Amino acid sequence: MKLFRCQSCGQVLYFENTVCERCSHRLGYLPDLATLSALQPDDALWRPLAQPRRILRFCENAVHDACNWLVGDDIGSVFCLACRHNRTIPDLSIEDNEVRWRKLELAKHWLFYSLLRLGLKPKSRLEDPDGGLAFDFLADSPSPTGPKVLTGHDNGLITIAIEEADDAERERRRTLMREPYRSLLGHFRHEVGHYFWDVLIRDGGKLGPFREVFGDDTQDYGAALATHYDNGPPADWQETFVSAYASSHPWEDWAETWAHYLHIVDTLEMAAAFGIRVQPRLTREETLSAEIDLDPYQTGSMQEIIDAWLPLIFAVNSLNRAMGNQDLYPFVLSPTVIDKLGFVHEVVHARR
Ligand SMILES: [Zn+2]
Ligand SMILES: [Zn+2]
Repeated sequence: MKLFRCQSCGQVLYFENTVCERCSHRLGYLPDLATLSALQPDDALWRPLAQPRRILRFCENAVHDACNWLVGDDIGSVFCLACRHNRTIPDLSIEDNEVRWRKLELAKHWLFYSLLRLGLKPKSRLEDPDGGLAFDFLADSPSPTGPKVLTGHDNGLITIAIEEADDAERERRRTLMREPYRSLLGHFRHEVGHYFWDVLIRDGGKLGPFREVFGDDTQDYGAALATHYDNGPPADWQETFVSAYASSHPWEDWAETWAHYLHIVDTLEMAAAFGIRVQPRLTREETLSAEIDLDPYQTGSMQEIIDAWLPLIFAVNSLNRAMGNQDLYPFVLSPTVIDKLGFVHEVVHARR
């Protein structure tokens, strides 16, 4: 993620801002320019100072404060590039659901920022009724014995349990599942990985190379997951997988690796936006120092990304520990995992 600057007053702005704190200009995000812009009202529409010749409107979800993206006439929808994929939103007549939905939308828009920066524009259900990307944000049945919503992906349809937007509930589930990390953004990044497996691997003619790196995906998925939940991961899973869950099946390995690719690229971009430079005083070893001045969304090789990532994350994890918090990035990247990340990187960039 980048930092943005108000075109009117120069104030630093963040992706989720809707009003400039200094000059009070309304703000809207232009997905095609990947920029947040101060806006000038023009009748009922808006003229972005970043591109004053254009006249745009807000996505329909802006009335709920659930979206700050702008829409042109080219999309053919009252919803923005990110919101046109919503199939079911939470029932807003239920208390707290609007708050939950806003958290979900922030994570979803953050995901779409990365996808669009990588040149990955998912198809909607209108464009592809069978496999287009759609989101169902669903609540558990009010009855304690009723069916529980399972977060997951099925043929382009991503279901997110809206209870995941409650911090206490998500933390409860994280502990129950023995995960070192669980976030809404992580869910979105993981589940969309399954969608892009369909698009880029299965339908992209890459099954052969995929199987060389991730193994045989034709093994029974349900049985593999049941085995994983019964027996846990193999003892040496960290040598081959980025997370314990990734060891359950090659599809999950791909989705986990894909999510980590987005974690790394997007976090590095933010580090670069702040001009972060890591140079520990303890040692002069090259491997621990880095000046984060690359654009990880554009950069040529996975190795450059990893060379910048490792020193950064050693430093930031240590900062978190100094505050008594969990590591920002509580994962180990083995050489095999780095190769898998490199495969994701190649597939994404080959497409551009
Ligand atoms: Zn301003
Ligand atoms: Zn929107």
